[in-house]
Order: sequence, then structure tokens, then C-alpha cells
Amino acid sequence: MKILVLNAGSSSHKSCLYEINSLHNIILPLKPLWEGMIDWTVDSNHGLLEVQANGKKNTFELPMDNVETGIKTMLDTMIKGENKVIEKLIDINVVGHRVVHGGKKYYQATFITEEVKATIKELIPLAPNHNPVHLKGINSIEAINKDIRQIAVFDTAFHCTIPDYAKIYPIPYQYYKEGIQRYGFHGISHQYVSQRMAEIIDKPLNSLKIITCHLGNGCSITAIKDGKSINTSMGFTPLEGLMMGSRSGSIDPAILTYFMREYDYDRDEIDQILNKKSGLLGISGISADLRTVLTAMENGDKQAKLAVDIYIHRIQEVIGSFLPSLGGLDALVFTAGIGENSAFIREKVCQKFNFLGVKLDKEKNRQFCIDKNIATDDSSVKILVIHTQEDWAIAKQCYNLIS
Ligand code: ADP
Repeated sequence: MKILVLNAGSSSHKSCLYEINSLHNIILPLKPLWEGMIDWTVDSNHGLLEVQANGKKNTFELPMDNVETGIKTMLDTMIKGENKVIEKLIDINVVGHRVVHGGKKYYQATFITEEVKATIKELIPLAPNHNPVHLKGINSIEAINKDIRQIAVFDTAFHCTIPDYAKIYPIPYQYYKEGIQRYGFHGISHQYVSQRMAEIIDKPLNSLKIITCHLGNGCSITAIKDGKSINTSMGFTPLEGLMMGSRSGSIDPAILTYFMREYDYDRDEIDQILNKKSGLLGISGISADLRTVLTAMENGDKQAKLAVDIYIHRIQEVIGSFLPSLGGLDALVFTAGIGENSAFIREKVCQKFNFLGVKLDKEKNRQFCIDKNIATDDSSVKILVIHTQEDWAIAKQCYNLIS
């Protein structure tokens, strides 16, 4: 079965084509036959398309006209030129879309119908940067051929098991009924890394108490018990929770009204401050990219050090706050750009949990440790670094739904 995964984001579109004929005995992710990515941020006149297949990498410039045309150009590289891997686009059996927000309605991978599209559209106010581009991705495939089946895999779905007491905000109950609640995000990643972790330590997932830390540009932590999400740090929007690259994470909500009253900021200005000018960037004044901030810190920059200190403190706070609901901890998992690559952040985060028997092996932590346990042998908690593979997770969910 040929499964195309389309991850249409606000500034880039990533896509890959998998051939899955069975998932029996498949533990490691399969390598895609073809991979494409459009980056719309390289300059203001055109997008950059990179394609990889048949052992060859090619780059193309795309006119800045519209998303649908860009996606069609990207997909056409599968049927012609050096990166050709199939004869016709209709040979694709199913397209799986990563959809950031499924609201209260979708708790699992779902075939895309007019009704599903209408719901994704209705949810635009909850995911203004993402749901509109997902719809464009879905429409681009329909424009190629209406008969290609499409499936939506929702980033919110994994968190549908969060109990009411963790999901409902303590504001007047009527707002919960109107849809204001903790939805949580990065669900595809949290679910995948927890499953992969259980495979690696060879324990049944439904016997484990796990905390997964997805630390990329966006950061979130999830508490997982018996394979189910029971709490997560992102909430109604992906702004809540941890400090991130340019997002503040949780702050006293009264700061917003103070901003309005004392600074006369309107909602767009507040949105910009909290989403684009805060986090590592806002405190360091240097960058939203952790690597740059760490380098500045090593060179003695005090603001950079403060940014890193806050970043680590906030991760520790969230991990600590999840422990009572889990009632213990079997494994701590790090994933995404920072979680997978920064030995420094992992070491600092774990240090404060030493008293619980969380013992990091500093040597293992500094070596290549993807998909490995980096805890000492006598640590009472396993510590794993797992490479998140959201595309593969989406492809598997599509395969399972169709099979
Ligand atoms: P996104 O959420 O956009 O997918 P990523 O998961 O790629 O982001 O993570 C991006 C973050 O990972 C950036 O802050 C980057 O600095 C950080 N990162 C990547 N490699 C390293 C590294 N070797 N050390 C520290 N941070 C790293």
C-alpha cells in the first residue's frame, strides 16, 4: 500500500511516500520511497522545494503564487524526473494529513469527508495558523483526483483521555460547554515515542507510568499512564505550559489585562508578544534557537544564561507537577530537536530529580543516544532519548485504519 503523508504547516510543507505491505514484525520505521519539503520562508519572492528519492536530492525554486500549486509541483516530482518513484499520482492508495486541531469531535484517525472538512474549517478560530493550510493540503489532493482516499490524523486526538479534572479550566462552566478546555497538542509525537520507548525497554506499554518531553521550537510534556494521556502541558492552544523558542508558555493571566489597561495593547499586540517575542528569544534578546542561546551563554552572556535557567526550571516544574497524577514514574522520555540533541538540557533537567532515584549516566547521555536508555543501571527510572517520527506514526495509523 502506497501511503503519502502530508504535513502542511504554516511556513513549510513536508511530505513523504511510504510503501507499507504489512506491519507484522516491523519495529523500526520504514524508510520513505520519496520525501519532499517546501520551505516558504527562505525569501519573500519564492519558496524552496527539496526532494529526495532514488538516492538523489534535488532543489527547485517555486513561485510564491499559492500553496495548492506548490503542493502539486512537489507531488509531481514523484512521477517525473530524477526523483520519479511511481507512474501516476492516482497510484497513491491513501493520503494521511497531520491536522493540528480536531476539537472535541475527532479522537482517532478519520477518513476525510465533506463533514470532516467542515469541522476542520469550524475549528479555524482554535488553530488559525494551521487548520486553513491543512484544508489547502486536502484540497490540493482532491484537485489531483477526487478518488484518492484521504485520512486526517489529529494532533489533539491522543489527549482525549485526559480526565475532566485536568481538562476543564476553573472558569465559569458555561465556557467549557462552549469548547474552552485543555486539548493538548503534539499528540502524534507523544504517542509514538511512548510506544517506541516501551518496545525498547521491552515492557508492555499498558503497565507503565511515563513522562514524555517533546522539546522542539514548540515544547510540551505529557503524562502517560497505561498508554493513555492523562495530562499535558499545552492547553486550549499551543501557548500554554513550557517556555518555548518564542512563546511564553504559562504566565499569570492577569498580565494580559494589565497589558491592556496600562499599555493600551490590543489583542494582536498581545498575541505577538506572547507567541513571537517571548520564550528563549524574549529573555535572551538573541534568538529563539536554543543552540544560539547556549553558545551565547557559554560566551558569558547573562541574559542567555537566564533564558536557559528559566527554560530548564519550567520543564522541571511541569514534570514535578505530573508526578502525583501518575503516582510514580517508570520512564522519562526526551524527544524533538532539543530533547534529542541537547545533552546539557537533559542532564540539567534530570539533576533535580535525583532524590527520586532518577539517575542519568553522563557518559551515555553525551554519546549518540537516539532510541537508547541513558539512565544508570541502578536508576529507578529509565531515561530514554527517542527520535520522534511523526510521519511514520501517521502512515501507520492510515495503514491500520484502511486494513
Ligand atoms: P520544530 O518544533 O520546529 O519541529 P525541532 O524539533 O526541529 O523544531 O527543534 C528545534 C530546536 O532544536 C531549536 O531550538 C534548535 O536549537 C534545537 N536543537 C537542534 N539541534 C540542537 C543541538 N545539537 N543542541 C541544542 N539544541 C538543538
